[in-house]
Amino acid sequence: EEVVSFQHVDKVYQSGTVALSQFDLSIADGEFISFLGPSGCGKSTALRMVAGLGEATNGRVKVFNQSPKDVIKHSNDIAYVFQEANLLPWRTVLDNVLLPLEIRGINKEKRKECAVEVLEMVGLKDYLHAYPRQLSGGMKMRVSIARALAAKPKLLLMDEPFAALDEMTRQTLQMDLLQIWQKEKATILFVTHNVYEAVYLSSKIAVMSARPGRLVTMIDVDLPYP
Ligand code: ADP
Ligand code: ADP
Repeated sequence: EEVVSFQHVDKVYQSGTVALSQFDLSIADGEFISFLGPSGCGKSTALRMVAGLGEATNGRVKVFNQSPKDVIKHSNDIAYVFQEANLLPWRTVLDNVLLPLEIRGINKEKRKECAVEVLEMVGLKDYLHAYPRQLSGGMKMRVSIARALAAKPKLLLMDEPFAALDEMTRQTLQMDLLQIWQKEKATILFVTHNVYEAVYLSSKIAVMSARPGRLVTMIDVDLPYP
């Protein structure tokens, strides 16, 4: 079943920069797909469009067969993780994860249950009442991932989430993300310029060209997992 599609998408910014050009892509349910390519090739632009942030100049992007803006407006099906964890420093770990659930009006007991569950999944059950400043970079990113997963999104968008982490921390988070993917059965779109990361994490890699926004090829990766 198709979850995301780009149909002949061009994206030209007001500055005149061509970020995507005749971009075509179809992503199936349960896929872990990496967008791989050099800086400036349009990876983030593509990801943002899936979240309804920015319209196609030509062509169209569909998510669950609808416009991304409608999906965002009417459901919790899409979540976004950025390179920076973007935690609120005055809120505890638990309260950071609760925030999007509060905003969405999920009832109090239910949201606590969801938040604790995802924090356990990312290995932070002993840090519910810690503040962001007490955490390492890797732990902050774990909170950010938990916050994105709390509302059980069907589609998880990740834009270079591990780029700012040291190598060892990055590898640990990569392994844990694979486990989360297998457990949650979400579709993951993952932006990276790191070839090893793309190969290690993805079931499919969309290789993009430095000549902006062109899809060069799709690679199927044989993951050593069911
Ligand atoms: P990547 O994520 O692969 O590094 P981006 O999607 O961020 O690439 O950017 C693609 C191109 O579009 C780059 O040339 C970038 O400078 C340009 N660009 C990105 N965002 C904007 C914007 N808001 N306004 C104008 N140009 C932009
Ligand atoms: P609550 O627990 O009721 O959410 P908070 O203590 O988290 O209350 O803060 C309430 C609001 O005050 C926040 O949404 C934010 O807008 C503002 N605020 C609190 N602390 C800060 C801070 N350190 N920097 C900026 N804004 C803050």
